[in-house]
Amino acid sequence: MLGPPGSGKGTHARVLSEHFSVPHLSTGAMLRGAIRAGSRLGDDVAAAVRAGELVDDEVIADLVDEVLASSSASSGWVLDGAPRSVAQARLLAPILESHGAASVIAIALDVPEHELRQRLLDRGEREGRADDRPEVVAHRLRLWAATGPPLLEWYDTRGMLHVVDGVGPVPDVSSRVIAAVARASAGWRGRDGSAER
Ligand code: AMP
Repeated sequence: MLGPPGSGKGTHARVLSEHFSVPHLSTGAMLRGAIRAGSRLGDDVAAAVRAGELVDDEVIADLVDEVLASSSASSGWVLDGAPRSVAQARLLAPILESHGAASVIAIALDVPEHELRQRLLDRGEREGRADDRPEVVAHRLRLWAATGPPLLEWYDTRGMLHVVDGVGPVPDVSSRVIAAVARASAGWRGRDGSAER
């Protein structure tokens, strides 16, 4: 699940996870959990997360590798929040494959920047997330503007990208996301001929 901060990755990843009965793995939620727990990982990443910076690629790769190793899912996962850059996409591809991911469906939520900013500021007031403070929001949006488009292009050139309009009532966007995943998985099942539609 790809997209800028505030595009609804977490919300729609949760819906996908329930709909397809596969685990929802959010790198952001795992990092925030580690920070709350005061673990060594949490201490290492706390400053970066609070400032809206990206955590080191190797830390993310290790985290994803570890959580996939401990997840017993045989039919897939919804990965939310990673990769965030082409460098991470390159690092994660062999890790996903080593845990049995035969195919990857990259869903990108498309939401205009003025709406992202408003959603993040509203969430900041509601939930008090340190990285939803106005100055950090501006930084996170700039970061996505630099790293997001090349990331989407990386998946697009590999035929894996599915862009979904992320504006509108949550159930409407969720329906579009589910439909995109269903269409994409029907496509690759059809191609390799290994599963019935
Ligand atoms: P999120 O909950 O996805 O918005 O992530 C919250 C914060 O966690 C981000 O602003 C980063 O500081 C960190 N983070 C989450 N996922 C990644 C990732 N794949 N690479 C680097 N940093 C990440």
